[in-house]
Amino acid sequence: MKAIYGDNIKLGILGGGQLGRMLIQEAASLDVKIHVLDPAADAPCAELANSFTQGDFRDYDTVMAFGADKDVLTIEIEDVSVQALKDLQTKGVKVCPDPKALEIIKDKGIQKQFYADNAIPTSDFQLIADGGDCKEEQLPTVLKLRTGGYDGKGVMLLRSNEDLKNAFAGPCLIEDLVDIEKELSVIIARNADGQTATFPVVELVFDPVANLVDYLFAPAEIDADLAEKAKKLATQVADALSFEGILAVEMFLTKSGEVLVNEVAPRTHNSGHHTIEANITSQFGQHLRSILNLPLGSTDTLRLGAMVNIVGEPEFTGPVKYEGLNELLATEGVYPHFYGKTMTKPYRKMGHVTILAETKTALEEKIRFVKATLRAIS
Ligand code: ADP
Repeated sequence: MKAIYGDNIKLGILGGGQLGRMLIQEAASLDVKIHVLDPAADAPCAELANSFTQGDFRDYDTVMAFGADKDVLTIEIEDVSVQALKDLQTKGVKVCPDPKALEIIKDKGIQKQFYADNAIPTSDFQLIADGGDCKEEQLPTVLKLRTGGYDGKGVMLLRSNEDLKNAFAGPCLIEDLVDIEKELSVIIARNADGQTATFPVVELVFDPVANLVDYLFAPAEIDADLAEKAKKLATQVADALSFEGILAVEMFLTKSGEVLVNEVAPRTHNSGHHTIEANITSQFGQHLRSILNLPLGSTDTLRLGAMVNIVGEPEFTGPVKYEGLNELLATEGVYPHFYGKTMTKPYRKMGHVTILAETKTALEEKIRFVKATLRAIS
């Protein structure tokens, strides 16, 4: 397919958060004009977009009106009006990713069934009409809401009868509890010609006390053959979805050495933020290249990279102030990215920091420094 890049191309994004903001930063370099739709007047993209439309991306009429004069539409959030995207596609607007792929991914039940149908390794699962239908003999299990969950909300580990009492209401799936050795992520780009490029595998490190992602780093510390297996799996998923754009494939490496797909995100992803500084092409630049059907860029690593999220300190709510920024900027290989959010509240994602180093030990030292130094307070 011909590249659709040109002087006057109008690219629309549904969602005006930090992912859109970082896409705009790349788009400026290619002189691609970006138009954003988001319900919040002070969304992170509002001040940077070529035009900003305040409105609900879940509303059919709003998306139809927003998309009508765009050449290409993309998303930075899954929870959008898929029907409007389908109808805009019929009218000749290029929609990336294809709304059909979005439909599969939006519902974790359909997504898991898709893996099963396409022989993509994933943990065994069962769909249930209501979380409360889960039976004692099925424990332990992982209960997931089919729609609406994010950042671990909508996921519940059920071990005991006591846990069953708190089960989510509504359509869910239960899946086998995986004995996880490591959590991995592969960011892959695929364009309309079916050309793909995978970034080096990312490893997520969890804080054992808080049970939250502590930091991410890449390339993952795994054998070369496992890394190859993870990349092949990501390619298999992107091909099966005929995906166009960036797809983030979250995986589990099990204690027995299997690689299973957990879930995918049909967009740029938190686990690819380090690529802005750590790789030759960033995930945002690569997303633009793939949806405009331009040649994909090299995904090679420049330096070992890590990413730490900056979240609002628990005891502060109000206009944000960043403490420790001078110390951070005085350190080599440390790159803060603030998302332009004016108000902080406990655990709100305010930004991230990319950290580069030559060795894992040096990287870990800088990660500790960044976490101890930078604080989003009020
Ligand atoms: P979300 O979409 O909210 O991020 P995930 O499906 O990624 O939800 O699950 C969140 C976390 O829960 C995972 O990162 C992993 O730590 C844990 N988890 C999810 N599914 C399983 C499973 N089948 N077995 C063990 N842990 C799981």
